[in-house]
Amino acid sequence: MKINVGIDLGTTYSAVATFSKELGRVKVLKNSLNSDCTPSVVCIQNGKVLIGDEAKDEQKCGNVNTAAFYKSMMGDPGWSAYIDGEEYSAEKLSGLFLRELIRDVARTNNVEIDGAVITVPAYFNDKQREATIRAGKQAGLKVLKIINEPTSAIIAYGLTGGKDKNVMVYDLGGGTFDVTVAHVSGTRIDVLATNGNHQLGGKDWDEALIEDIKDRFYYDFSISIDDHEEDLKELQVKCEEAKKRLSSAPSTVISIQCEGMLGKYTVTREEFADKTSNLLNETISLINSCFEEISEAKNRSFGWSDIDEVVLVGGSTRMPQVKDMIVREYGKQPITKDINVDTIVATGAAMQAELCVSSTITLTVASAPSQQGGGTATANRATPMTLTIHNSDIQDITAHSLGMLALANDNKTYINSIIIKKNSRVNETFSREYTFAGEKLQVYVLQGESRDPYETDIIGAYSITGMPKDNKGKIKVNFLYNSNGVVEVNACLENGQVLSAVKENSNETMSEIIARLERERREAEELARRNSRIEIMLIIDTSGSMSGRMGQAQRSATEFLSGLDFSRTYVSVISFANTSSVVSGWSNNKNDINSGIRAIGSWSADGGGTSATPIETHYRKFSSECNHRIMVILTDGYWNNQSSEEHSASKAKRDGITIHAIGIGEADEAFLDRISSGKGKKVDLSQLTEAFKEVAASIATETSGNTIK
Ligand code: AMP
Repeated sequence: MKINVGIDLGTTYSAVATFSKELGRVKVLKNSLNSDCTPSVVCIQNGKVLIGDEAKDEQKCGNVNTAAFYKSMMGDPGWSAYIDGEEYSAEKLSGLFLRELIRDVARTNNVEIDGAVITVPAYFNDKQREATIRAGKQAGLKVLKIINEPTSAIIAYGLTGGKDKNVMVYDLGGGTFDVTVAHVSGTRIDVLATNGNHQLGGKDWDEALIEDIKDRFYYDFSISIDDHEEDLKELQVKCEEAKKRLSSAPSTVISIQCEGMLGKYTVTREEFADKTSNLLNETISLINSCFEEISEAKNRSFGWSDIDEVVLVGGSTRMPQVKDMIVREYGKQPITKDINVDTIVATGAAMQAELCVSSTITLTVASAPSQQGGGTATANRATPMTLTIHNSDIQDITAHSLGMLALANDNKTYINSIIIKKNSRVNETFSREYTFAGEKLQVYVLQGESRDPYETDIIGAYSITGMPKDNKGKIKVNFLYNSNGVVEVNACLENGQVLSAVKENSNETMSEIIARLERERREAEELARRNSRIEIMLIIDTSGSMSGRMGQAQRSATEFLSGLDFSRTYVSVISFANTSSVVSGWSNNKNDINSGIRAIGSWSADGGGTSATPIETHYRKFSSECNHRIMVILTDGYWNNQSSEEHSASKAKRDGITIHAIGIGEADEAFLDRISSGKGKKVDLSQLTEAFKEVAASIATETSGNTIK
């Protein structure tokens, strides 16, 4: 018979369960040793793979070809275990473990396993989730979904169809800790917040004991057990066993042999609780952060008094000090009755697996959920009733904010600009719009709460391409946590046209990425600077008083032109007296411009007065693609419309136009100052060339900066 299963792929133990439509409840599938749970230990010897108790026995005997606790290293490219002459990543070990686990369970229960929902700590990031999916596929499974362990526990525990309630799942496993708060209303589950530490779990309590025994052994015999790999492995197993014994006995003895010496050490529960209190405190602070996050989202204070039920999940919650801590903080007893802490997560995953293939499930539950919780996992109380659950009833959230690498407002530092906030619903799309005219937009997606990109995980660089060549519109980039909690990015144009968004695989570190982006940005700025168009409007007075000065004016202006960069500078020549006119239009051809100037020179002034308004008439005539707009005005006398021209000059300057006014002869120096962006220049005719040179130098400085107007 082909079945779909839920797999709790635990750090220390794993469990498999399936939903039985006939019974309307979940059945935990036992392994060949008739146990619900299989130790997540792998032993590889001469190519042969052993898992579970067999592998754990090998570990106990000090066999170095064993691996445990690899789950917390999932998705970490820098971690591998050297076993049986080969390097194994956590993903590969998980794949081998899952393959053997489902083979064993399938054989024992005479079923064929097809699809699976695999659980992960809510705190798992994108890389860890993707690695888990790949491990499942490597094991030959059709991975139906990845689901958060606490959400899975709530599905198994909380769906009792009773009154609305806030449920906290305190999940302390072998290597991970998660706390999750959800609102349960009938068959609907809304996860409100989740927090965790995927490096905190039962193994840390083991470690505290191991350290204690190592110290005591060293004190007695001056022998360091750390130097003896096999003895150390044995001590690890013995300490875990002792820790478990302390959950039911007030004290226990740990004996260890090394270099022929035998040490026997008594440990009491109080001593153990004392030595590990810092670990429990860490879980309390993560609970408090959860409350703070919910308070922030709800805009009201949320705390222990808002919690209706606390559910303990994970093998490590068997330690009495966990329950004592909850009672101390919560003031009430947590729910432990009717819950099998080892299989509740697999149970919820099995229900989710059925939901994935059938979209609804009909569950037989106890009719009246007691104060001690419903416990659908082992719903065996009188008068069962049925409850139909829809896939859409389960609304999960993300444990990590998602952001993108962006340049901060200071144009210097890079930040993680958050797009999807932690505790946002999965399957909800968040978008960012970009005004971008290039061919390839690269978006670096980061996961983490910090604004500092160095404190985040790099999800990947998404390359967005396929924009039309003349694209001037906006590009919309959509970011989403899918129902597996895995990040998806896609993009489209304003008109809805879909663009290609491809995740590029790269091993670049954050500092390498930032250094490269910085370099590219500087190059782009330099290019933009080099390509930025400069427009200079050369406005020359041709009134009667200029007649004797025109020759010099022409020579000085020609000299001025010779210093300009015509790869990006365009000049238009304007003459003014009683009227103003364009002598030569925008051109970067030096000859054209020179002939414009010569034309003015040969007019040798029109003999009229200066009642034109050249600033007002021409300041709007710069082209739109120009980055630097400059007016250079040469005059030798009073203008009839000085005050209105001052007003026009103010408007022009407000619009970003730079005005350089040069005066000779009877020019009004105060007027020159008022129309200029800086100070005006009143000079003798003999100094006119020098004055033009100074203007050219000032234009060069102004247009070589990185700021583009
Ligand atoms: P899980 O990952 O949920 O299977 O939890 C496994 C962790 O629970 C391991 O660290 C076990 O050592 C721990 N554990 C299991 N049973 C007990 C117990 N009776 N007392 C203390 N810790 C336990």
